[in-house]
Amino acid sequence: MDDTFLEMADVLAEGGFVPVALGSFVAHHSLMTNVAAGRPDADDLAAVRALAAQVVEKLAHVDGAEAARVAAVPGNRPYRAFGGVAFKPEVNAGACTACGLCARACPTGAITIADAAATDAGLCVSCFRCVAVCPEGARSIGGGAELQAARDAFAQRCAARQESWFSL
Ligand code: SF4
Ligand code: SF4
Repeated sequence: MDDTFLEMADVLAEGGFVPVALGSFVAHHSLMTNVAAGRPDADDLAAVRALAAQVVEKLAHVDGAEAARVAAVPGNRPYRAFGGVAFKPEVNAGACTACGLCARACPTGAITIADAAATDAGLCVSCFRCVAVCPEGARSIGGGAELQAARDAFAQRCAARQESWFSL
């Protein structure tokens, strides 16, 4: 997870929020879909519920949000540089109805509503949310044999089950 928690805590602090807990919950990978398939599962959801219950308990017994601040947020500044991901979404422009859903869902602004059939590869972080929300199936992961080889290698590296966890 690198510096994710620290970066998220910083973003929240900039918005005036006080992080009082943090959690890492496993979900299937958006690109390497054979990794963590079926997650979150019952154990992951139980961890989510346990964190929620403990946060409620903590806030009921600690005086003020500052005092409830999470004890230690893992990560380093400057954050680790993003090295990029080779695979970008492919678009079948003929199937695109220009509904704009993908542009609104893209977290980095890599798609514009004016030209939703295009992707700015420099902004795209390969999350594939646009593929998931497209009602026409106009966006796909693509990648062919190269993606399959990467999936197989990644699945091997991630074969051991990782558990969800949280901290207050
Ligand atoms: S893969 Fe993610 S970042 Fe890239 S265009 Fe789609 S929604 Fe945006
Ligand atoms: S969600 Fe699909 S159909 Fe809608 S604008 Fe994006 S690519 Fe086109």
